[in-house]
Amino acid sequence: MSKPQVTLFWFRRDFRLEDNRGLYHAHQEESPVRPVFIFDSNILEELPKKDARVQFIHQELTRLENEINQHGGSIDIRVGKPLEVWKKLIEDYEIKSVWTNRDYEPYARERDKEIYDFLEDKGINFKAKKDHVIFEKDEVVKDNGDPYVVYTPYSKLWKKTLTGGHLSSFKSEEETHWHKTEKNKIPSLKALGFESSDIEFPARELDENVVSNYDETRDIPGIKGTSRMSLHLRFGTVSIRELVKHAKTLNEKYLNELIWRDFYQAILWHFPQVVDTNFNRKYDEVQWRNNDEEFEKWTKGKTGYPIVDAGMRELNKTGFMHNRVRMIVASFLTKHLLIDWRWGEAYFAEKLLDYELASNNGGWQWAAGTGVDAQPYFRIFNPYSQTEKFDKDRKYINKWIPELNTQEYPDPIIEHKAARERCLATYKRALS
Ligand code: FAD
Repeated sequence: MSKPQVTLFWFRRDFRLEDNRGLYHAHQEESPVRPVFIFDSNILEELPKKDARVQFIHQELTRLENEINQHGGSIDIRVGKPLEVWKKLIEDYEIKSVWTNRDYEPYARERDKEIYDFLEDKGINFKAKKDHVIFEKDEVVKDNGDPYVVYTPYSKLWKKTLTGGHLSSFKSEEETHWHKTEKNKIPSLKALGFESSDIEFPARELDENVVSNYDETRDIPGIKGTSRMSLHLRFGTVSIRELVKHAKTLNEKYLNELIWRDFYQAILWHFPQVVDTNFNRKYDEVQWRNNDEEFEKWTKGKTGYPIVDAGMRELNKTGFMHNRVRMIVASFLTKHLLIDWRWGEAYFAEKLLDYELASNNGGWQWAAGTGVDAQPYFRIFNPYSQTEKFDKDRKYINKWIPELNTQEYPDPIIEHKAARERCLATYKRALS
């Protein structure tokens, strides 16, 4: 039997048919488009069995499959190590070309290089497009070509460089020509080795009211004052171009946060070593205390600092934590408890629905004072004054710590002033 002649489109972190740049280009090819998704066993093997992100991927793949079915197409879903899967795909199809959208994480870069080399060897073109960010690689750099390592000048040039063209939508849901095929059976979560969790996913629709008031509400964890788009940006269930268009008309502060996202993606691209080392190597000598028991109390939300504990409980229960509280708990772990930021980063990576290596690493190194444009080491958040400022009526704390004023709630793990002095002395020693 002759093999079907196709253009393959590889979905990764771009789960949408509309305004999908790589998909749009795939549809411009002569051969019909067969979409592919690979459940990468290198990644799956590292995840806990009740990982809500796998459930989210599963849910979104099901939605996409249904949408593509309406055009007579279907997603070819595979499980395995990417190179092994591609070896199989070239046996199953006569592949005219392969399209995808770029992924900037070190693992993805290595994987894509391997697949690119493999396909090139077989005479197949593997083409990737920018879709996950507005600007990538060297598109926003200093005059001398060096990457920016400070946010403000980066964001100024980002805004100056932006034209309407950067935000044009790709009509990837129109003028499509899908490869016609039978409906596919998506493997169940159970078959993939996962269980479903009771975590709820935020809506995919942008709440324009929230964005309009964002500058006023974004720091208050007790209200719905932020957009909750992070999960959708992570998996590409919404388009960054669409969000930037809204941000430009609705709220400048919101736009600035989307630029932080591009900034951290650029940092990861230019400095992939930040994944496991301090961006600022002068902090390499910090003597972390790394006390296991204290770390466990932090993870469980039992430090005796209500705002920290509320944040950790929110994370454990919902897979989300408000940004202001992320900053507070990260500062507390690294500065009050002197636990290596890599421990906190790994815990967040396991729990956050919106886990994104670039932003998580950027956020943790910012809090620890070791990163690009970081909070200086001597600025140590006082959890009590942070509470006064951002959770004055204790709405957030009371929601997550019902036992707050009872015997059950623990005493503070360490007194704030003593922790502050210990932190200052430790960082100073490292820098001397
Ligand atoms: P909004 O406030 O509505 O912001 C809109 C979007 O802008 C977000 O969805 C996000 O994509 C982007 N954004 C906002 N703040 C930041 C920021 N500081 N850095 C980069 N992008 C930002 N964000 C992640 O997406 N994934 C992570 O793994 C992650 N880890 C973090 C770890 C720490 C220690 C800290 C301090 C921050 C981290 N952030 C991370 C950034 C930020 O906390 C989340 O993006 C935000 O809380 C998500 O909620 P939202 O969608 O309602 O955000």
